[in-house]
Amino acid sequence: MIPPGSTIGVLGGGQLGRMLAHAATRLGYRLHVYEPQENCPAGEVATREFNSAYTDKERLKEFAQGCAAITYEFENVPVKPLWAIEDEVQLRPHWDVLEVCQNRAREKNWLKRNNIPVVPFAEVEAGGDLAAGIRTVGLPCVVKTADFGYDGKGQLKVASKADVAAAQKAFAKSRAVVEGFIDFKCELSVVVARNADGQMSTFPVAENIHTKHILDFSIVPARIESAVAEEAAQLACNIAEAFGLVGLMAVELFLTDDGKLLVNEMAPRTHNSGHWSLDACVTSQFEQQVRAITGLPLGSTEMTAPAAVMVNILGDAWKWDGDALVGSPDWAQLLADPRAKLHLYGKSEPRRARKMGHFTVTGRTMSKTLALARSLKASLND
Ligand code: AMP
Repeated sequence: MIPPGSTIGVLGGGQLGRMLAHAATRLGYRLHVYEPQENCPAGEVATREFNSAYTDKERLKEFAQGCAAITYEFENVPVKPLWAIEDEVQLRPHWDVLEVCQNRAREKNWLKRNNIPVVPFAEVEAGGDLAAGIRTVGLPCVVKTADFGYDGKGQLKVASKADVAAAQKAFAKSRAVVEGFIDFKCELSVVVARNADGQMSTFPVAENIHTKHILDFSIVPARIESAVAEEAAQLACNIAEAFGLVGLMAVELFLTDDGKLLVNEMAPRTHNSGHWSLDACVTSQFEQQVRAITGLPLGSTEMTAPAAVMVNILGDAWKWDGDALVGSPDWAQLLADPRAKLHLYGKSEPRRARKMGHFTVTGRTMSKTLALARSLKASLND
């Protein structure tokens, strides 16, 4: 066990690191953050900030020597430089989990090997025969870059044969994954934590609504049958167990029109769809991450309200005149409502599609809670 008073390190200094810093310091830990860019959201609230490239082995070593355990909040941290610090400190989750999850092809192959239901897919090497991959999977399909994709970036829907040439052009230089296009009833996610003793715990399943490929609303508990929620939680536990996970991870799933669960993605860190837990759960996902990596007993994931809805606040909520920023959102109504909790990430420069903050609304019934969340979101632009 790594006792309170020790130092935890986090690779990546965005909002997930910032909220981890809040949770860690509340439990008496110190948090050091390693992030290439200065003045990052996590650095503002961390005990110490290291700014250097992820490939700077010397600086990474110095960072590692000051920490009892290191986790990450950013999925695209290069893995190789981490080998150099393996003898210095516990990296939780282990880098091999990161290596699988940061590449869509490796991720999907890993899921298949471990008998986890996955979206039908084909891999295509850079410069390879994309049309053949598309024929294998069938139309409609989605082509995604194998590396560095997130929030719908680096992906293209291929609806008919007429779209194939455009996809070939767009993906000519990238390793790609072709996925069958899934007609889903809804998108779900499960956050699961596992500690070194093998103790596991899942958070209630979230139902996620995306707009332009970016998470817009997380609805908890998801509006699905309890048997489906149990199955989703079991899949997340099977994944955590198969990895021998020490830490926390999120599993995103599609619930298909015919009632099947298919895993879309895994993220070996806290997740946007788990932010509701800060305000509507006994233990937040960030506290659970601290507990899992330090060996403290995992906390209860019982909800503290019957219904919770998390709403992302993007830079689009700021007032724009064309490309010029002309004003801030109107926070008054949101801040005046006792059922809503606002979290802002301290990012100085709002940009469209950039995650600037979120708020969570709690209530007794889902229909009223969701309606309130929607109206408070609209009030930001009144
Ligand atoms: P991803 O970056 O893979 O999480 O994709 C972003 C969003 O695009 C997902 O949350 C879905 O809404 C949509 N999407 C991705 N892959 C598929 C698919 N194979 N079929 C249908 N929709 C998809």
